Amino acid sequence: MSLPFLKKIALTVNTVIFLLVFVHLAFFKSVNVPFLVAFSIPDACIYLIGYFLILRDKLDIYTWLLFIWITIYTGVTTLCIGNGYGFHLYCFSIIPIVFITEYIGYKRKKRKMIALPLSIAITLFYIIFTGYVTKHGPIYDCGEEKLTMFWSFNALVVFSFLICFIYYLIKLIVISEDKLREAAQIDQLTRLYNRHYMFDKLSDITDRDRECILAIVDIDNFKKVNDIYGHNAGDEVLKNISGHLRKECRGCEISRWGGEEFLVVSYSPYADTVAMLEELRKNIETTPVEHDGKKIQITITAGIASRSSGQDLNELIQTADKRLYHGKNNGKNCIVTGAEV
Ligand code: GH3
Ligand code: MG
Ligand code: MG
Repeated sequence: MSLPFLKKIALTVNTVIFLLVFVHLAFFKSVNVPFLVAFSIPDACIYLIGYFLILRDKLDIYTWLLFIWITIYTGVTTLCIGNGYGFHLYCFSIIPIVFITEYIGYKRKKRKMIALPLSIAITLFYIIFTGYVTKHGPIYDCGEEKLTMFWSFNALVVFSFLICFIYYLIKLIVISEDKLREAAQIDQLTRLYNRHYMFDKLSDITDRDRECILAIVDIDNFKKVNDIYGHNAGDEVLKNISGHLRKECRGCEISRWGGEEFLVVSYSPYADTVAMLEELRKNIETTPVEHDGKKIQITITAGIASRSSGQDLNELIQTADKRLYHGKNNGKNCIVTGAEV
């Protein structure tokens, strides 16, 4: 989470609470509690200071100020007018913010919030002031007239906040999980699956004892491409070949198996897979890669192995590898099916 994003959230939260101050002020005036009307002045000042702190990037101090002030505010208002108006409910909104603040601090390698002891302290404070008011009654008697309306209003504000908070939190968790999964499974250069992901796929194939065809595709003389045209050109070739694989090996699982090696798993019939790879080889051979105004001629060699029921994974990869090297030792630019070996 970047600082500008956090600042945007803090400014939104601060504005909502700042507007609430005026709604509460109107309420305190309507039930005729001058002390709480006057108390709205430091209340409003706190959120004005809040704007100043947020704009000065002092988010740590702002959150501490928010926690302490909301706890004091809910305590004071509840002691003054009782539990019935729902001001004590605002305490519930602090707990999730305390924990998320600690998490954000941990992510940004900042000072810890000590969320657990802080939330226990808020809980104890809540029990003490609501318990006290239940036993001794509030300081001011505001009657029953506005009770239902203001209880509903405060409950609505607190629950809306909690619902929005959890909703966005879960959304952020899902986005972050997707990013992590992608980082763990996808090769950054070619955007194909990486070796790690493919190993999982292959063990899944053996676990389910699926029949499939495995091909190891290797770019011919790739070192020379790097030596003659430079590393960036080499990268461009890798991306280009990945594009060919994606386009021409539809329905297959495709991964970058190593530097300039790709592993393709096909579930199509053997003859169709061989034809597909032959087509791929021809297309790559006849379509030079353009880089920096130069045309780079590329060819590939592939070794194919077909998995039959009960066959071990390593044995299958070894067979495909052996066939690939047979192709490499026999002129390259070919698809080796096993009949030739
Ligand atoms: P052969 O035809 O026998 O496969 O020869 P080759 O030159 O293609 O294979 P070799 O194993 O000798 O060289 C592979 C080269 O691939 C060496 C390495 O520097 C390069 N390479 C590996 N990963 C990358 C990469 O991500 N980008 C670039 N540009 N080069 C890479
Ligand atoms: Mg090679
Ligand atoms: Mg290689």
